[in-house]
Amino acid sequence: MKKALVKQLEDLCGQDRVYTKEEDLEHFSADALGPYRAFRAASQLGRLPDAVVCPRSAEEVSRLLAFASKEGIPVVPYGGGTGVMGGASPVKGGIVLALKGLRRIVRVSPEDRVAVVEAGVVLEELEVALNGQGLLLGHDPWSLPIATVGGAISTNGVGYRAGKYGVMGDQVLGLQAVLASGQVIATKGVPKQAAGPDLTGLFIGSEGTLAVITEATLQVFPLPEKRSLYTLRFPTFEKGFEAVVAMHSLGLRPAMVDFAEQLPAEGTPDYGAAQVELNLGFEGFKEEVEAQERRALEMCLRHDGRDLGQEAAKLFWENRHATAHRYKQEVLDRPPGRRRRRQWRMDYLHVALPTSRVLEFRSYCQRFLGEGGISAREWSIWGRPEFFSFMIADPEPPGAETSLKMAAVVDHVLMAAQDMGGTMEYCHGVGLKLSHLMEREMGTAMGALRAIKSTLDPQGILNPSKLGL
Ligand SMILES: Cc1cc2nc3c(=O)[nH]c(=O)nc-3n(C[C@H](O)[C@H](O)[C@H](O)COP(=O)(O)OP(=O)(O)OC[C@H]3O[C@@H](n4cnc5c(N)ncnc54)[C@H](O)[C@@H]3O)c2cc1C
Repeated sequence: MKKALVKQLEDLCGQDRVYTKEEDLEHFSADALGPYRAFRAASQLGRLPDAVVCPRSAEEVSRLLAFASKEGIPVVPYGGGTGVMGGASPVKGGIVLALKGLRRIVRVSPEDRVAVVEAGVVLEELEVALNGQGLLLGHDPWSLPIATVGGAISTNGVGYRAGKYGVMGDQVLGLQAVLASGQVIATKGVPKQAAGPDLTGLFIGSEGTLAVITEATLQVFPLPEKRSLYTLRFPTFEKGFEAVVAMHSLGLRPAMVDFAEQLPAEGTPDYGAAQVELNLGFEGFKEEVEAQERRALEMCLRHDGRDLGQEAAKLFWENRHATAHRYKQEVLDRPPGRRRRRQWRMDYLHVALPTSRVLEFRSYCQRFLGEGGISAREWSIWGRPEFFSFMIADPEPPGAETSLKMAAVVDHVLMAAQDMGGTMEYCHGVGLKLSHLMEREMGTAMGALRAIKSTLDPQGILNPSKLGL
């Protein structure tokens, strides 16, 4: 970037808020999507931004965006950089807008059960602050210690407690956002409005392509009077799935449903034998929790579930953020050259389907993957029966940066989910990785999305090449 432009950015935000050192540019040049899982999009990764700017207020974001629109410079919003779809990668260079400077918890109201927070607040910091006031955040992803409020809203993430509190987007009452023109807009932080269409919803899951979110009004919840946890083992995936469906058919929604058939890791005592386990969590007021656990356990036992005891359940709950702590130590806290990136040749897919088609989809994938020599290491349900995930391993020998075979397989199974009336991704967004499937995902609605994009961002500066835009 020309020196004159850097000088202009410094004038807009202050000299200490514009980073152009190689190390800083590298730090902000990627999220958690490595070249292997990016498949066909891998060639677009690795581009450095021209500058990283770290604004401290919505007014500074506004000045920066007005400037970038005038000059036609791409701007990529960057939260915690933990996204797994390449959404925060600056594939066309330009400015990375590091939102870590917007870190204030503006207001918490226990009576209204509302928190107003800036977009760069890390989820765990908010959770701790809320706990201190007898409240909790309903969004509890694995990445709680490392992801930001703005990133979670922009990807419409899912967490462990989604069964009770819903996904991230369900908890957003209102937003303050800056449009590409620099205009700051705000929607009302109320639980429901009937005065026109839901503009808050427009920005949820928009992955920084329509606006930069600077502040959110979130619904928060009382700390539960009682929480109980169970781990149950089932003889087959089908039996456990039927137990989960039976609960939901009754209207019983455990706060946490984490159900998986997993192949234990190589080298562990049970290696080779798939294990099917359901981790259930109930929370709320005492009588509610007791009624829920009684009925849910009855259903599990009726479907041949076996209670593995409190120790197993407690261990699962306490370790639920362990991967994120490891990711922080091995990647985020290290300088770019010394990061430890695991070379897994696997992909983890997350589709949502009508409940009635989940087992059919699993059987279809088992057949299709088996014919291609691809092994599935895990099949799971998270939060509700419709949210179905699976982890597949590449049969090709390690070495090649990417795998064309896996790329084709991933596309095939995601398209099969679309064809069964589902969506190709329920958890992490589209980013760069799934951009090529957006047209197919959205159908004729893609034209409407493009029209919204070109109206709100006529120069196309906001996070180009993401979400198929
Ligand atoms: C170990 C690990 C565990 C994970 N577990 C989960 C999980 O359980 N559930 C889950 O949903 N996800 C999970 N993820 C994925 C990731 O943590 C989520 O997608 C998270 O919501 C991203 O937040 P972030 O702040 O890191 O966003 P980033 O990665 O920085 O950005 C994500 C996208 O949002 C955009 N964006 C960021 N901030 C803003 C803003 N203020 N305004 C507009 N656009 C913005 C970016 O441009 C990008 O497109 C996990 C990731 C890792 C590495």
